[in-house]
Amino acid sequence: MATQTLREEVTSLLQELIRLDTVNPPGNETVAAELLRDYLEPLGIECQLYSRVPDRANLVARLRGRGDGLRLLLLSHTDTVLADPAEWTVDPWSGELRDGQVWGRGALDMKGQVAASAVAMASLAREGFEPRGDVIFAATADEEVGEDPDFGLAWLCREHPDAVQAEFAINEGAGDRVEVGGKVFYLCATAEKMSSPFVLRVHGRSGHASLPSIADNALVRAAGYIERLAAYRPEPTLIPEVEAFLATVLGRVPPAAEALDAARTLDPAAATMIEALLSLTLSPTMITASHKRNVIPALTEVTVDCRLLPGQTQAEAERLLRDWLGEGDYDIVWRPGQGGTHSTMQGPLWDAAESFIADVEPGARVAPICVAGFTDSHWLREFGTVAYGFFPARMDPDLAARLVHSADERTDVDDLELGVRWLRHAALAIGS
Ligand SMILES: [Zn+2]
Repeated sequence: MATQTLREEVTSLLQELIRLDTVNPPGNETVAAELLRDYLEPLGIECQLYSRVPDRANLVARLRGRGDGLRLLLLSHTDTVLADPAEWTVDPWSGELRDGQVWGRGALDMKGQVAASAVAMASLAREGFEPRGDVIFAATADEEVGEDPDFGLAWLCREHPDAVQAEFAINEGAGDRVEVGGKVFYLCATAEKMSSPFVLRVHGRSGHASLPSIADNALVRAAGYIERLAAYRPEPTLIPEVEAFLATVLGRVPPAAEALDAARTLDPAAATMIEALLSLTLSPTMITASHKRNVIPALTEVTVDCRLLPGQTQAEAERLLRDWLGEGDYDIVWRPGQGGTHSTMQGPLWDAAESFIADVEPGARVAPICVAGFTDSHWLREFGTVAYGFFPARMDPDLAARLVHSADERTDVDDLELGVRWLRHAALAIGS
């Protein structure tokens, strides 16, 4: 049976990928790029490695289209976070197959989708599928770190934009099957918040620590601001993605101020999904003050992990923050923001997701979601690609969330097969 073959093929390709250690840093993704190239190239798929340094290659594979249609990019990354074998039940680089699951670092994030994308491409090529526009598979380096100097998709978009430019892209970010209010939904990430950290610099006056009253301790002052930041509850607003999510799961769009309660009444899980999407969020995470025990600091710097809504600007956020913190001897110093992009929730790729889910689980629906973190999708959206985080998976989403970046990461073979079917469906829907 053909599906049986694809199931076995994606399982063994994932096992091989897991056995290649691509922990970032240092990455060493070239071994994965070469493995994928050697698998795809004999099938007539054009393969090219792009690398800033020899050990950190990105693979771009292309099923050349007739040139009269829209292009689809299957995006994934081959690097992983580290793994401490002492915490694991199995060797994290064993790729062991056990009870219908493949175990190992990267199984979920995201070598499973790498393997599924490659097998979808391979099977289409074997069948002689000639898409109207190119179907492109990019297996990129350096997603998990991606700082300057970077080696992955951001670099590729800067240096070789033609290699990855496409009208549509499918990436990681969502796809989980959730039950809300007794109905089944598959989440499709169409937007991302903007990671926009800032440093709150609180000023005082230094002095000797043995005479506290002659100084003005910036650390003590900062304590008040930190509590104030932690207590901030901005007025909720409904971004289009949350409106569409509520319309899908609730059947109506309540006013912003009632959205959280309405979602909670339907299902606490729905409230958890939208809570961080109703406003900017603030998490103070780092602090520096005096570097000497006996010197009262004149300056304290509090680093705040701040996530803005898509479309919200730092200037807007700063006005809100200053209103909340009030007058005082402090500065807000913004760090460069990343992400905060979104894609339309309509069109051929959206339709493909809906028709696929209708096919594999009648009665289930696709619900759009904004992700609170960010992925490589924003690099693509910045040049106009409609990019979705959508890799349908039926593993319990709470379990999956606990396993990503953690011990005993594993994926269901059933989900790998479902993923191959989805990616084939999308390529056929866009390219036929
Ligand atoms: Zn990832």
